[in-house]
Amino acid sequence: MTFVEEFGRLPMAGLLQRAREGTAAEARACIGRSNLTLGDFAQLIAPGADEILEDLCQRSQVMTQRRFGKVIRFFAPLYLSNECINNCKYCGFSRDNPILRVTLSPEDVAREAQELRQQGFRNILLVAGEHPKFVSGGYLAACVRALHEEVPSISLEVGPMETEDYRPIVEAGADGLVVYQETYNREVYADMHTAGPKRNFDWRLETPERAYAAGFRRLGIAPLYGLAEWQYEALCVAAHADYLLRTCWKAQLTMSLPRLRPCAGEFQPLTHMSDREMARLVCAFRLFLPDCGLVLSTREPAALRDGLIRIGITMMSAGSHTEPGGYTGAGKEKLHQTERGRIVELAAGASEWAPVAGRATNATGQFEIADERSAGEVAALVRRLGYEPVWKDWDAALTT
Ligand code: SF4
Repeated sequence: MTFVEEFGRLPMAGLLQRAREGTAAEARACIGRSNLTLGDFAQLIAPGADEILEDLCQRSQVMTQRRFGKVIRFFAPLYLSNECINNCKYCGFSRDNPILRVTLSPEDVAREAQELRQQGFRNILLVAGEHPKFVSGGYLAACVRALHEEVPSISLEVGPMETEDYRPIVEAGADGLVVYQETYNREVYADMHTAGPKRNFDWRLETPERAYAAGFRRLGIAPLYGLAEWQYEALCVAAHADYLLRTCWKAQLTMSLPRLRPCAGEFQPLTHMSDREMARLVCAFRLFLPDCGLVLSTREPAALRDGLIRIGITMMSAGSHTEPGGYTGAGKEKLHQTERGRIVELAAGASEWAPVAGRATNATGQFEIADERSAGEVAALVRRLGYEPVWKDWDAALTT
């Protein structure tokens, strides 16, 4: 059975009732249990569980250190392209946004990766908007090949593809695929995605299964918190993770906790998850899914990131840029402005590619980051907390 079929059978009404009305006593009863059910997970994310947050944090910390050691894995996003044929109301790269766009050449990508290598990174996430003309399967394989010798762990976060189209990218050396469902609420999904192939909810939901079939051995999933009720999203992504751990058991699974950030287009989040609720959610994920890596990006402010390291986070980005060429300025001479998918002529003499002070390129970023510390500063903080920063995530040579 695919996850789309399993998803359609989830008893969401009952689970949501528990997630909204569960008491502290019911949550406490779940803490010491092993093999929690999705119903138990619902009790742990309920507002009533806030009363026992300290106990939840302690339990989550013990379980995380037992499974993952006192280690924080580092990765860096490397944006390849901000061209996109989709309109997602919450994203700066949306087709209709009049922004400065560029697609890096494989040589540009290698230059960006070299800078990240010098910072220490050996685990890179290649990110791109969805645009088959600029970001084709062949282009992605060429980018992976350009990095593979120098970067042992390469993942992709790009538009969903067919299994057969993923295979050459795996053969080129990529081992991970990340795909956010954005929202598991079908109505909100339809409202948020107004144009482009991304409108197909089920096709996107089945992406991790296609990626696994193609040979990816690291899978990452998440909703984007801020579109639908966070408890609903958490229940759905927990069920999704549980399914993938059962059916794609040769892969490592990670789950991210992205909250919506300001971006071009100035979309405002529709729902809110507080920092305290996020801490409760991290604990609940750890107790329900002990083997699932939990990822926190620079979308979150420094103080919160520092606090969540000790609770259950296992992987972080640091010093990130969300614009193509953001680390070195690579590709800035190819910048162009598009509006409603068409290139707009700029005024004679306009020098849109000459970067403003403090930036390597004027390409528009996907969203604003909140933790602006360098990778070195975050690694030093991790050490001060008694954890070991690990820059490499995976070595294909170690697998059988
Ligand atoms: S979220 Fe992804 S698909 Fe949607 S506009 Fe942004 S880059 Fe394109």
